[in-house]
Amino acid sequence: MRYEGTTYRPPPEADSFLLQVTVGCAHNRCTYCDMYRDVSFRRVAMDQIEEDLQEARGIFPKAERIFVVNGDAFVLKAETLGNIAERINFYFPECQAITMYASIQNIRTKSDHELDDLRRLGINDLYVGVESGWDEVLARINKGHTVAEAKHQLDRLNRAGINHIANLMLGVAGSGKGLENARFTAEFLNETSPGLIWVGTLGIFDGTELYAEMEQGLFVPATEMEILEEEKELINNIELDNVRFYGVHPTNTVRVSGLLPRDKEKMINEIDIGIAHVGEDVLLTSFHRASL
Ligand code: SF4
Repeated sequence: MRYEGTTYRPPPEADSFLLQVTVGCAHNRCTYCDMYRDVSFRRVAMDQIEEDLQEARGIFPKAERIFVVNGDAFVLKAETLGNIAERINFYFPECQAITMYASIQNIRTKSDHELDDLRRLGINDLYVGVESGWDEVLARINKGHTVAEAKHQLDRLNRAGINHIANLMLGVAGSGKGLENARFTAEFLNETSPGLIWVGTLGIFDGTELYAEMEQGLFVPATEMEILEEEKELINNIELDNVRFYGVHPTNTVRVSGLLPRDKEKMINEIDIGIAHVGEDVLLTSFHRASL
């Protein structure tokens, strides 16, 4: 298999076969993101995708999940995604889920009928970069969608029966705004019913717009204590039934996971234990996570 550029996949897809169908990210403008700045977006030719699938079939005795890369692979036209899914189903008939990163804009470009078809072809468990449920934050990080639009598009996804994983980013609102961001984001989750909630923490990377904003004093990073209080507030305000909360991303200072609402108190207690363990002095600083 050929992979061009750096390839990223979510931690839960560690055991999935990665099939590259795009290079880079079509949006590539989120102010905090430096993942695909070094490559121009393009689609991978269908001939190459087919060759990679043939080669993979000889390597993997079975592949029950296939993660399609790169940054926002759901950007491809529904017809193209359908063709890729048909080829995957031909070479890997045992595959249970074809999954990928998807932005709200990517969902917007598909009709309801197309979403239904993609679900029937096995596309499911889309990782959606929600990040925050607060318009002020989404506009500042140039996410490319509003809260109202995200609710509308995720509702369409839900009606098509396509499950989504909500990717959230603690600390993205900056210092002094974490609790408010947590409340807006919990409200958003309560209305959009993700199948799973995946929580990481903002990293501030040299060369990004966000880094420049920080240097100019336009963005003040949250302290670690603020970030952990934000996470507690988020957990406390989620009112979903039977939804997994994964706060175990390597960027998180204290890692918690559990089933909501059952493990709500347990996770909040674990964060408090983490705070006591790390020490409030350390947590009153900001970690930029620039080396992650
Ligand atoms: S959509 Fe994702 S990959 Fe693309 S710029 Fe934003 S965060 Fe980075």
